[in-house]
Parts: sequence; C-alpha cells; structure tokens
Amino acid sequence: MSGPSQTGEVVRGSLRGEEGRRGDGAPGRVDLTRIEKAVREILHAVGEDPDREGLRDTPARVARMYAELFKGLREDPRVHLQKFFTEKYDEIVLVRDISFESCCEHHLMPFVGKAHIAYLPGGRVIGLSKLARVVEVVARRPQVQERMTETIARLLMEELQARGVAVVIEAVHTCMTVRGVRKPGSVCVTSAMKGAFRSNPSTRAEVMTLIYGERR
Ligand SMILES: [Zn+2]
Repeated sequence: MSGPSQTGEVVRGSLRGEEGRRGDGAPGRVDLTRIEKAVREILHAVGEDPDREGLRDTPARVARMYAELFKGLREDPRVHLQKFFTEKYDEIVLVRDISFESCCEHHLMPFVGKAHIAYLPGGRVIGLSKLARVVEVVARRPQVQERMTETIARLLMEELQARGVAVVIEAVHTCMTVRGVRKPGSVCVTSAMKGAFRSNPSTRAEVMTLIYGERR
C-alpha cells in the first residue's frame, strides 16, 4: 500500500499547484470587447475589410466562440468528483468513447476526439456521467493533449482515492490536418497510467483490451 499512497501524495501537491495558478490567472469573466478588437485587428492584418457586410458581426461571434471554447478556465473539475458512493466493487470501471472538443494552445485551433477513462475503485465509486463532466471542463481550456490526459488521470487518482486510473485519449488535431504538415486522418494517442495500471502489466493489458478489444 505504501507505493500507491506515496504516488498519491506527490500527485496531490503538483496538481493543487497547477489548479491554483490557473485560478489566479483566470478572471471571472471573459472580456468579449477585447477579443472583438483583436479579431478586427487580425482581419485588417490579413488585408480584409472588417466592415464589409459578411464580416461585420464576425468579431462579436468569434468572441462568444472563445468564451465557449475556454469556459473550462473558470471552472473547477473537482466539483464533479465530490459526490461519490461507497461500494465494495473493486474491478475495473471503464467509460469508453467520451467525445470532447478542445483547443490546441499552440495554434488556437480545435482538436477533437475521444477519451477512454478507467479506474480501479479504492472504496469510492462515482456516477459515470461525472467522468464525462471532468473531461468537458479540462478540455475547454487552451490545451495540449498530453497535459489534458495527465490532468484527468491525476484528478481521478486524487479525488477518488482510486487504486489505479487509466486515461487514453485519441484526437485529430486540425493544426496538423489543415495547416503545417497537412496530414488528414492522423490521430494522436496519449495515455496516462496510474497506480495498479502503471505497476501491474496484466491490469494494464486488461484495460487496454477493454478499450480496444473488439476493434483490433
Ligand atoms: Zn497545434
């Protein structure tokens, strides 16, 4: 037991820090006017006329879009993990194919895909929809897929006091498919394995079969 609990302590410290900084840096409301001004500037800069009919409402529309895409900056995913049930169930719980939309922080272009989340309860079981809620909050921030995967795994490990957490995310990044190297169809896969899923190869193999079994 000492192995997993030590990991839990390290995780707790680092995640609290990250979430804390986010909280400090994220004001209560999105400054829509400021985004509108910036979008008008971009339109000017590329040689467009922001006042022509088709573009007139675009800055305001884009501002509202960013407010929606980044609404997770002003939300704490932990609120969805506070209500749990005490159950004896100690086998894998898996929710597969949780769809999400996020935004790559390097290009501000969408990446969309699916998250598969599994955990081994350590006495605490939560409603399955809560896993999807956590994905939603963490996705709706300027993100990189690697950090998104790790953040979700750490949150669950800590809040559920699980014996293990496995998070696998598959996504198509539009910054790779429509610009740059332009490779449509390429899928980025990331995984974060914690606790028993990290230390026990057969437990890890079991969850990977549950996720991908029928598709192989
Ligand atoms: Zn990108």
